[in-house]
Amino acid sequence: MTSCSGAEVRGVPAKFDAVLALGTNIGDRVANIEDAIDRLGADGVVKVVARSRLYRTAPWGVTDQDWFVNACVGVQTALSPHELLRRCQAVENDMGRVRVQHWGPRIIDVDILTFGKRQICEPDLVVPHPLIAERAFVLVPLRDIAPDFSIGGQTLDAMLSELNAEDVVPVGS
Ligand code: AMP
Repeated sequence: MTSCSGAEVRGVPAKFDAVLALGTNIGDRVANIEDAIDRLGADGVVKVVARSRLYRTAPWGVTDQDWFVNACVGVQTALSPHELLRRCQAVENDMGRVRVQHWGPRIIDVDILTFGKRQICEPDLVVPHPLIAERAFVLVPLRDIAPDFSIGGQTLDAMLSELNAEDVVPVGS
């Protein structure tokens, strides 16, 4: 993962300890997102307190693959950032994720976008997630749960104006 920017995050509702992004492009994608959200919150250690709509999105990075469903959730937890990362990875592993190709097809991907105002720059965890501003499939769902979000002074609208968000549409529309 790329290096951290130190860019300050603002506009995340105070009730969220962290914001997660989910994505899937294998099998029943809507069911995969629902399954992952259920698993994240199953024992109450992570409580999902807000969730975006589900979006059908075009592949990014490796574009020669099937379309995705993406979503964002706001969570409350007493876990540390690394404990939360391990929990996200446990959900990925339990759902049968196999790491074959970077940015390639996956049954589920769960990333930590933000963790309060924390800046984390470690080999296995970079927070805020360094690619937030480049991914319409993250920014559009994020807008549902944190409309005032900004990073490094850039608002959601400013970031989205630089991107092609036409390929990010609510599931079912
Ligand atoms: P991915 O292919 O997107 O699932 O990337 C997974 C890898 O990114 C793992 O090795 C994580 O340790 C690392 N990583 C670094 N920062 C983050 C983050 N903010 N959220 C999730 N994974 C992260």
